[in-house]
Amino acid sequence: MEKTIFQKIIDREIPATIVYEDDNFIAILDINPVNIGHTLVIPKHPWVNMYEMPAEDFDHMMQVAHMLGVKIKNTLEADGVNIIMNNDAAAGQVVFHAHVHIIPRYTGDGHEHWHGARGYNEGEAEMIADKIMENY
Ligand code: AMP
Repeated sequence: MEKTIFQKIIDREIPATIVYEDDNFIAILDINPVNIGHTLVIPKHPWVNMYEMPAEDFDHMMQVAHMLGVKIKNTLEADGVNIIMNNDAAAGQVVFHAHVHIIPRYTGDGHEHWHGARGYNEGEAEMIADKIMENY
């Protein structure tokens, strides 16, 4: 199978701006940042998405994202930080090697979220919550 761009970065076949590395994770600056300092935390193991990742490794990835998110907020004097993971094309995933985005945000920077104006019909929220709870 063709290596992903992130696997090539991990294997040092193509360059990247590295901001953190340990035995299991690498963090690099996103080549096309939403804001300056936009960082990607990437597990070295080539899981495609979070469904494939054991919970323990996901926890570890989020610990790295937490450490870097706080550091980035303080260093870049951001007003806020988004931590985002896209899983599958339908959710906007483009590189199919699991990763978490850390995006420093500034008041009035103009980046908009989804709007979520749909709401719920009568009884629908309870039905969905029951369905989710059933599957634990
Ligand atoms: P996603 O939509 O979550 O799969 O995001 C993939 C991200 O990887 C995008 O924000 C890209 O800008 C970023 N990206 C793609 N190629 C590179 C690269 N060579 N170095 C750094 N970031 C990259």
